[in-house]
Amino acid sequence: MTARAQAYDATVTAREQLSEHLVRLTLAGLDGFASTGIPDEWIGLVVPGQFQSRYYTVRSWEPPTGSPRAGGTLVLDVVVHEVGLVTEWASRDIVGDTVVITEAKGSFARPPAARWVLLVGDLTAMPAMARIAESVTDLPVRIWAEVPDDLGGYLPDNADVTWLDPPSEGASRLAEVVEAIDWPDGEGYFWMAGESAQMRAIRKHLMRERRLATSAYDVMGYWRGVKERQPRAVDPGPIWRAGKAAGKTDEEIWADYDKARDE
Ligand SMILES: Cc1cc2nc3c(=O)[nH]c(=O)nc-3n(C[C@H](O)[C@H](O)[C@H](O)COP(=O)(O)OP(=O)(O)OC[C@H]3O[C@@H](n4cnc5c(N)ncnc54)[C@H](O)[C@@H]3O)c2cc1C
Repeated sequence: MTARAQAYDATVTAREQLSEHLVRLTLAGLDGFASTGIPDEWIGLVVPGQFQSRYYTVRSWEPPTGSPRAGGTLVLDVVVHEVGLVTEWASRDIVGDTVVITEAKGSFARPPAARWVLLVGDLTAMPAMARIAESVTDLPVRIWAEVPDDLGGYLPDNADVTWLDPPSEGASRLAEVVEAIDWPDGEGYFWMAGESAQMRAIRKHLMRERRLATSAYDVMGYWRGVKERQPRAVDPGPIWRAGKAAGKTDEEIWADYDKARDE
């Protein structure tokens, strides 16, 4: 989080275990926070006793009703994996805790001429895929979800979903899935998020083999599959703003983000 990033306090008012690895947190009392309305928008989350943030998708947002000072309510769906700063916190009874969140940013940008939307992702991408599918009511939405839990009912009914089991060992198979896609005809929009190394391979495939225009897809590395605790998290916000100001495409900006996290 940079000194210039807007930050908001919020209180955890509910914690619900949606499935073995997914926990829904309701954060209330957000005074001054505004949603971008972009369906894959994310915020930085700083949990008590920490100064580093981790990034989470805004699964839903209810602006304040009545007095704006009452603050709005934000819902995040958090993956609890083996070991991690937020994972360890979110695995406990945290109702009543105060957290800090940063302003929202989003990158989903479907071209006006798109006739279809394809979404591919792992468990960390589920909140964004659900919200995107909810927001795209005028085009066919096809989803490939590689998740370890039974999340039937999590994605809206308008989406045609293929559920994939993650391999018990080793890397996700999402790169193979993307290479085998039978692409619909005409112009469309492809959105994907998951483990960073996989996402880099997929970007290359889309650019070199499929020769998609960069405006036709967004592929984002949401987490890094390294064994040790992440040395630091890099806030996508400033990289996003700098990239936009420099006239870069979303693809170029996400590649910059991956590079910054590798440094
Ligand atoms: C724009 C954006 C939106 C995101 N939205 C969501 C969201 O809605 N929900 C969500 O759960 N995550 C989301 N993520 C991913 C999340 O920020 C990372 O998974 C983050 O590293 C989790 O933090 P942690 O404190 O639990 O683990 P960390 O302390 O960051 O990492 C500890 C260890 O766990 C490993 N690790 C990190 N994440 C995972 C994982 N998912 N599975 C297995 N191993 C992992 C790391 O390699 C590291 O070795 C998003 C990321 C971005 C950039």
